[in-house]
Amino acid sequence: MNERQTKLVNNTDRHRQLVLDAERWLWAHPQTGFTEWEAHNYLVEKFQQLGYEPVLAGKIPGFGDIPGFYVDVCTGKEGPTLAVFGELDALDIANHPESVNGMTHCCGHHAQAAALLGLAAALKEPDALEGLCGTVRLIAVPAEEMIQLGFREELRKQGVIKYFGGKTEFMHRGILDGVDLAIMVHGTAAGEGEPYDLSCEYGNNGCMAKTIRFKGKSSHAGGAPHLGINAQYAAMLGLQAVNDLRETFQEQDTIRFHPIMMGVNCAVNIIPDEMKIESYVRGKTLDAIKRENKKVNRAMAGAALALGAGVELTDRPGYAPEHHDKAFMKLVESCCIDLVGEDRVQFDYDEWSTGSSDFGDITCVMPGVQFNAAGATGTFHGIDFDPKDPERLCMNSIKAQLFVIDALLQNEGVAAKKIVADYQPEYPSVKAYLEAIDEMVLDKDAVVYDEKGNPTVDFQN
Ligand SMILES: [Zn+2]
Ligand SMILES: [Zn+2]
Repeated sequence: MNERQTKLVNNTDRHRQLVLDAERWLWAHPQTGFTEWEAHNYLVEKFQQLGYEPVLAGKIPGFGDIPGFYVDVCTGKEGPTLAVFGELDALDIANHPESVNGMTHCCGHHAQAAALLGLAAALKEPDALEGLCGTVRLIAVPAEEMIQLGFREELRKQGVIKYFGGKTEFMHRGILDGVDLAIMVHGTAAGEGEPYDLSCEYGNNGCMAKTIRFKGKSSHAGGAPHLGINAQYAAMLGLQAVNDLRETFQEQDTIRFHPIMMGVNCAVNIIPDEMKIESYVRGKTLDAIKRENKKVNRAMAGAALALGAGVELTDRPGYAPEHHDKAFMKLVESCCIDLVGEDRVQFDYDEWSTGSSDFGDITCVMPGVQFNAAGATGTFHGIDFDPKDPERLCMNSIKAQLFVIDALLQNEGVAAKKIVADYQPEYPSVKAYLEAIDEMVLDKDAVVYDEKGNPTVDFQN
């Protein structure tokens, strides 16, 4: 750690209590995507107390009201703009012992939001921007978890949002316009013996969000099942068909299909006339996702046809595959090593995770790195998740990000400029990316019968 970095560490430690209090407060106020108003209001007030004027995502003219905001930290010198994200949303997981109204921050996003606040505070210290150029855009973003697809579809129909992911929606709202590169720190559980404090892998699967609604006909389950059409059986058959297709998914595409049945809305003595399934198709490339998704939809149509049922297919863009720029990763890794030492840092330049994040949408158009701060225990998205060590989860995250900001934007931003110049984004602009994913939207009544009972099958655009 050099003298400058020691200063940045001290700048952070001065706000330790603010961060730790925020971590506890946000943990106790979990809300799911696009409803995170408590966290939003809390953070807006705290940012204002620090002297910032947050730009509210929900107040941008022409768009619906959603939580989330950004502030620009300007160095006063021309240079690159770096986005730093902190996510706001929790998960539905009522069985977690500390769940509030059925929700818990069991992905640790509350720690990210607390760290974003700490970062904002540290960047207000008198010497914080010394020697730097350009702008740091701190972004509190909603709705990373791709859940409650029915609710988001309602928001979409009402015109409140266009995209299901918060970062994608922020891209759509122009919040990433003029941004050159991006970072984000997610929490992680280092596991037994706590072998590291900071880590990073090369990338993540992308995904498509799917709602599949089988339509049958209700009737008396005991007395007259012959008059009914069992939507639950059709759904089960559809899922079995996809299970039989799994061996046609190729390893290189890292496809994941993990449906959940959303339950029936009737009694045990009624043949169920509706069964909804939510799922993703995840994969390593958007092409692979689209290709395998077609098979999934065909299987659903086939299953509906076999039972004489109907099926509505609703596909929405999920997230793009996330690729971390390797030169950028190197810079981040060396900052992490400066902070905690080589033996506490674990960067893997090849590892591919089969989860997904809307940070992938960001890396489609600009260089970005999402790295991890350890400090949680238990299972992510599990009932034993525990953000046990906020010192490592939040404080390490803030310090590492300050080091990265410094490394990128010092010396006229030469490091940031080189990373940006060398990067070959998948899409030339936010607009081009959004147009490409708009093509994934599909709304089909996939099996329709004429008077004779002959079907018309249509499961693709
Ligand atoms: Zn998560
Ligand atoms: Zn997460």
